[in-house]
Amino acid sequence: MTSPPFVTINDTTLRDGEQSAGVAFTLDEKLEIARQLAAIGVPELEVGIPAMGEVERDSVRAVAALKLAPRLMVWSRMHADDIAACANLGAHLVDISIPASDQHLAYKLKQDRAWLLRELPKYIGAALSLGLEVGLGCEDASRADINFLCALAETAERAGARRLRFADTLGVLEPFETFERIGILRRNSGLEIEMHAHDDMGLATANTLAACKAGATHVNTTVNGLGERAGNAPLEEVVLGLKKLHGIETGVDLKEFLALSSVVASASGRAVPWQKSVVGAGAFTHEAGIHVDGLLKHPENYQGFDPQEVGQSHRIVLGKHSGSRAVQVVYAGLGIAVDENEAHNLLPHLRLFVADRKQAPETPDLLLLLASIRRPLHVV
Ligand code: MN
Repeated sequence: MTSPPFVTINDTTLRDGEQSAGVAFTLDEKLEIARQLAAIGVPELEVGIPAMGEVERDSVRAVAALKLAPRLMVWSRMHADDIAACANLGAHLVDISIPASDQHLAYKLKQDRAWLLRELPKYIGAALSLGLEVGLGCEDASRADINFLCALAETAERAGARRLRFADTLGVLEPFETFERIGILRRNSGLEIEMHAHDDMGLATANTLAACKAGATHVNTTVNGLGERAGNAPLEEVVLGLKKLHGIETGVDLKEFLALSSVVASASGRAVPWQKSVVGAGAFTHEAGIHVDGLLKHPENYQGFDPQEVGQSHRIVLGKHSGSRAVQVVYAGLGIAVDENEAHNLLPHLRLFVADRKQAPETPDLLLLLASIRRPLHVV
């Protein structure tokens, strides 16, 4: 029996996630996030930018000192000093980031393609000599000439790199083009290929899945999709999507993911939106009468995947679109028998409540609503 296809998750919550404007983790938060990422089975973590200074380097050392299972990656610009700063931190790999598009080469560095191809090998060699494995981070790869990316891959491979990171730095790709570009790289290079997607157009997960379909071996993710601007590809969506849609395993177990999600939400100060897939409070919440009725008849009627796979369960709330059956079920959940007539009478009150409060009634609200129809208040 052949084993199922596998893609390695390289989670960058602690590097690109922290690069989100206004986000800075304390050392304790960083360690806790690393521990929980390791606990759910994430095999690689990108943990920081050593050139930022001694505090950042100490934090990388501290993560390494935990001796967790995941391999650790650090991020570096293609500068001699920056690469030297990656030494002796306990990291296994370094992503050496280079501008891959003509736009970035010309307008960030005032350089050209020939310069990059010429310079690259000595920096890869420098990192290798520190005992680090090397990935070449191709920034703005989406807008780079694909033939030039292939030339970069060839140069990097010959210099001893093991991986090429394809960064959709601006989040401007769509899945069909991602598939095509990663496919060309896959057919022309022996390197590992790591997809790094941003969500500026809401396509980070789709692009990440497309890259895997085209032969990417590694993908970057962040918890809750934290990251610069609109964020990175969310770990929870990528793991679930690869498994459910493509039958690709990652070794990551999402049953305990909710705890990690809430640690990252509070450490980053970025609350998880109510309707966020997988982890949002609304992700498995049902109100509409037709859905609730269908769900009660058979869960598969309105369930794309079992919420227990991600440590969640269905929740039925009452509101504008509720039917009397749901009213009886929800009150029964509180240990209160409501007859059909009462349930019917509650519906207009529920509609008024939600229109007024803009949220589903909680238990105390439900008790008050029921009391009001059972013993109408007399105005004297
Ligand atoms: Mn990024």
